Amino acid sequence: MSRCPGCGQTRLFSSYLKVVPQCANCGAPVGLARADDAPPYFTIAIVAHVVIGGMLFVEKTYSPPLWVHAAIWLPLTLVMSLALLQPIKGATVGLMLKLGMLKQDIDE
Ligand SMILES: [Zn+2]
Repeated sequence: MSRCPGCGQTRLFSSYLKVVPQCANCGAPVGLARADDAPPYFTIAIVAHVVIGGMLFVEKTYSPPLWVHAAIWLPLTLVMSLALLQPIKGATVGLMLKLGMLKQDIDE
């Protein structure tokens, strides 16, 4: 839901993928959960299964020309990736917060 995993009241993101340093409501240190490249990894895994599976099904069933594949799968890949990346990052940050996987060192 892109809300604080601690209290569910405030927004987790200050922009599309930028996590706020701390929840303004409950003080959960969500900014210390460094999701790094886990959200894109999960996004790619999900989108690839849908797009490649769909592509193979459509090709096997209808055998459309290549431009039809391009017209369907390229926009779908873009839209799905952009739509899923933020909620997946939010879920990753929530899981990391729950598991205590927070950045502890203060150098940086
Ligand atoms: Zn909160």
